[in-house]
Amino acid sequence: MDPVDLRSDTVTHPTAEMYRQMATAPLGDDVFGDDPTVNRLEQVSAERLGKEAAVFVPSGTMANTIAVGTLARPGDEMLLMEDSHIYLYEAGGSARLWGVHPRPLTPVDGCLDADMIRDSIRPQDPHQPRTSLICLENSHNMQGGRVISAAQVAPVVEVARQSGLKMHLDGARIFHAEVALATPAADIAAPFDTVSFCLSKGLSCPIGSLLCGSIDDIAEARRLRKLLGGGMRQVGVIAAAGLVALDEGIDRLAEDHRRCRELADGLRDLDGVQLAPDPPQTNILFIRFEDLDGAGHEALAADLEARGIRALAVGELGIRAVLHRQIDDQGLHKAIEAFQQLRGS
Ligand SMILES: *Cc1c(COP(=O)(O)O)cnc(C)c1O
Repeated sequence: MDPVDLRSDTVTHPTAEMYRQMATAPLGDDVFGDDPTVNRLEQVSAERLGKEAAVFVPSGTMANTIAVGTLARPGDEMLLMEDSHIYLYEAGGSARLWGVHPRPLTPVDGCLDADMIRDSIRPQDPHQPRTSLICLENSHNMQGGRVISAAQVAPVVEVARQSGLKMHLDGARIFHAEVALATPAADIAAPFDTVSFCLSKGLSCPIGSLLCGSIDDIAEARRLRKLLGGGMRQVGVIAAAGLVALDEGIDRLAEDHRRCRELADGLRDLDGVQLAPDPPQTNILFIRFEDLDGAGHEALAADLEARGIRALAVGELGIRAVLHRQIDDQGLHKAIEAFQQLRGS
């Protein structure tokens, strides 16, 4: 039997409808701007996020990296969360490629704190870098898919406006936030200059992310995409799947959120377990056992694997489980059972 793969919501395969659309999509050379399927995906994405324009890129990492290169100049400083994807998991690209200096701050309730930002903005001083960009993440991967609300973002926006800072949202899972907050993605995206999102996270697309923003910012983003080698040709074959993802993939995310809550319900009574967040807000749950260190959680992940359950051990945070389209109720129950067998009293 196939393993129950909770490692990430990126492990999903395309749906039957995606394969159908991929086979028949009208194509062109997207570097010349004449792939009609890509153009449609970019237009639909921009509309969905309430922005003027969008550019299709191969990955969320490229979308975020391009956003930083578009909004900040070499030598500028950006403020971001110390557990954000951009800071931890993008190979330091913003520093390496653009010379943008990251300043990691400790999040409060999954968001940057406005007072902390105010205290961190550099004065006009030739010794210091120029603070020019704030990056947030919604939903927040390393905080177990927590969502941040409009009320949390508003004071950050106010400081940014007062100080002339740009804002980028890493919205790799913005549609999970849309569903969890019952707030249109366009409203979540509204305060930000640029917003990235992934078609490959939970939406079942094989490849692809978009960066959305103003016409001018996206024009510059296209230049940086080309610089990074992200200009693709008849990429409508992939964009066709992206259109299906936006059409059919979002409403069903509520099912993943429901299963994530059920996973938490099934594990909450295990001895010494700590769930984060509890209850889960979207499709991600961190499962930590008080008596286990990083290596102990690695060993637990190996024991789970032997029982047909795959999940990632993430150091001190424990084990990360992510729900997605290919985990049905049967898979969910199998996962709960495996934890109970291994950690039940
Ligand atoms: C996965 C992820 C990304 C990067 O996406 P890739 O397509 O894997 O490069 C960016 N931000 C967050 C929050 C993510 O979870």
